[in-house]
Amino acid sequence: MSATDLPAGRHEPRTRPHNGVTVLAGPTAVGKGTVSTFIRDNYPDVWLSVSATTRQPRPGEVDGVHYFFKSVAEFDELLAHGDFLEWALVHGRNRYGTLRSTVERAVAEGKKVLLEIDLQGARQVKEALPDADFVFLAPPSWDELVRRLVGRGTESADEQRRRLETAKLELAAEKEFDHTIVNDEVGRAAAELVTLMGLTPNHGS
Ligand code: 5GP
Repeated sequence: MSATDLPAGRHEPRTRPHNGVTVLAGPTAVGKGTVSTFIRDNYPDVWLSVSATTRQPRPGEVDGVHYFFKSVAEFDELLAHGDFLEWALVHGRNRYGTLRSTVERAVAEGKKVLLEIDLQGARQVKEALPDADFVFLAPPSWDELVRRLVGRGTESADEQRRRLETAKLELAAEKEFDHTIVNDEVGRAAAELVTLMGLTPNHGS
């Protein structure tokens, strides 16, 4: 697929300078993690930021690859040292944060940096790095978002209701972003994202 094959989407022409940092955010269950995993596996030229988190590793998750898994005390210490570019309490449960030093190093080395973070974090990065590019990952429809959230079956009915309420607010944030990518198919959405980052998408993805 070439850039010219991509749907026009809702991309505004960019007028600000770009510092090589792209922030991907979007509502709960839209598939940000799936898109970033696809990028990790298929686009080695993208430097995907590894966040610190207080949540427990899921089966198959590797410390230093998917996250830096931290205790509450360790996270507090990083916070006290001002080591986070941004951080947030996500779904009222666990804290997640982007380590400032690793991102700054990657930017200094001229890497194409991607942060996959929640909306609260994206707003903080907008304050700290206004020249970053902000990409909103949107579901194909509200019904599809509900299907994905319910379908993955990892949350209780109560938690699902709570997250859908949050998702409504999160969808309203689309206008704060430079671009929207619809996550209709992971390989296509990833190709659109890397194209925005100035890279060539893989054929067949
Ligand atoms: P999960 O626990 O499913 O891996 O991630 C839960 C949520 O945390 C996702 O919405 C993800 O985007 C967000 N997240 C992951 N890393 C960070 C981070 O460093 N900062 C912020 N603000 N959110 C993050």
